[in-house]
Amino acid sequence: MFDYLIVGAGFAGSVLAERLASQANKKVLIIDKRNHIAGNAYDHYNDDGILVHKYGPHIFHTNAERIFEYLSQFTDWRPYEHRVLAEVDGQLLPIPINRTTVNKLYNLDLQTDEECEAFLASRAEPIEHCRTSEDVVVSKVGRELYEKFFRGYTRKQWGLDPSELDAQVTARVPTRTNTDDRYFTDTFQAMPLHGYTRMFEKMLSHPNIKIMLSTDWREIKNVIPYKEMIFTGPVDEFFDFRYGKLPYRSLEFKHETLDQEQALPVAVVNYPNEHAYTRITEFKQLTGQEHTKTSVVYEFPQAEGDPYYPIPKPECTTLYNQYKALADATPGVHFVGRLATYKYYNMDQVVGQALATFDKIIGTKKVSVPEKAAVSPTRTGGATRIAVSGPAMVAKNPATPGASGTNAASAASNGISGGTGSLKTPAP
Ligand SMILES: Cc1cc2nc3c(=O)[nH]c(=O)nc-3n(C[C@H](O)[C@H](O)[C@H](O)COP(=O)(O)OP(=O)(O)OC[C@H]3O[C@@H](n4cnc5c(N)ncnc54)[C@H](O)[C@@H]3O)c2cc1C
Repeated sequence: MFDYLIVGAGFAGSVLAERLASQANKKVLIIDKRNHIAGNAYDHYNDDGILVHKYGPHIFHTNAERIFEYLSQFTDWRPYEHRVLAEVDGQLLPIPINRTTVNKLYNLDLQTDEECEAFLASRAEPIEHCRTSEDVVVSKVGRELYEKFFRGYTRKQWGLDPSELDAQVTARVPTRTNTDDRYFTDTFQAMPLHGYTRMFEKMLSHPNIKIMLSTDWREIKNVIPYKEMIFTGPVDEFFDFRYGKLPYRSLEFKHETLDQEQALPVAVVNYPNEHAYTRITEFKQLTGQEHTKTSVVYEFPQAEGDPYYPIPKPECTTLYNQYKALADATPGVHFVGRLATYKYYNMDQVVGQALATFDKIIGTKKVSVPEKAAVSPTRTGGATRIAVSGPAMVAKNPATPGASGTNAASAASNGISGGTGSLKTPAP
């Protein structure tokens, strides 16, 4: 008999499998309905031998040293600072909006944070009570920048106008008055040196862990004996959609390999206004792989498909809370991860949630899930680019003053400003 049946081999399930097996000597069966481990972070070498992320670009960033150190047991790292450009009015401009964005867009020569701040303030429209995402952005940067960078992107991403979305979606979208063009400002920013899947393989290589792929939990739940379950799939599915389906926004990924060495000036270019896709990512720029060809992925937001982004509307939270009440009243099952808790969590947050669940299960102190990328006024001296085969390095940034207090990770999470997280994240 297994001590634990773990449903889902993404970050939530795999971290718990690893901890329970290695720290509590539990016998674990981890299953996934897909034919691979690593969940949405899964990466693989495509037919041309280029390492690609099947479910869209995943960039690791966190302020939590504990989480970075935990994962460092299973991988070396390649320092990587993410930068995103948005195509607006025929130009490629830094996003999140910073002083360079403003100078290029308006043909200005603003030299200081104060000058930039004054410019944005002159454009901003005072709104007393920001109720919607539109209010938040317009009150910060004005209607024109809102229209150019946010409105179209948000409509594509969510299928909703920002005026229909909660204020919280854009409440933390950063706008910078300096020239920091990094997408994230977290202390630790890096990519697993040999990819995410390799890291998961190491995590799950304990003799107490058995892996079963291409298996839906319903196929085996009454067949294979276990004492407790960790469920990281959709919580509404677990309860047979008793209160109805929890709504999600989905994505379709179109992967392409080009017979050229480089396709984009940076790893990700956002298209807030043109095209049906929101962004294009060039994988070699994330992984540092050297190859004569290059692979890119286009992301097309969809209403139907795999569940990616919980919809940030109050009625969805209310519906989730009904399922949460059921989950809380279900003994012997632990609900962990983005689908089981209906949250758009970044990878580090899911790792934090899984570590906290482990501590709870074995009765030690509770560890909280890291905040969505706390504001961190740091600036690095530039990322060192090393080949995938190069030495392991940790991207730890020395703090220097001067950066404005904004954080693209939050925006990303909110999926509004574009960019990785952004897209994604809606929350995401
Ligand atoms: C496009 C996109 C880009 C992202 N980019 C970033 C990024 O740059 N940085 C970042 O930190 N985060 C990013 N994220 C978020 C990241 O993907 C998640 O934080 C992370 O994958 C969550 O891990 P999880 O284990 O909770 O869920 P998942 O990775 O989704 O794992 C859940 C697993 O459960 C399995 N499962 C579900 N139902 C069943 C069932 N009935 N039976 C068996 N198995 C089942 C699924 O197949 C899946 O493999 C991104 C997300 C998306 C969608």
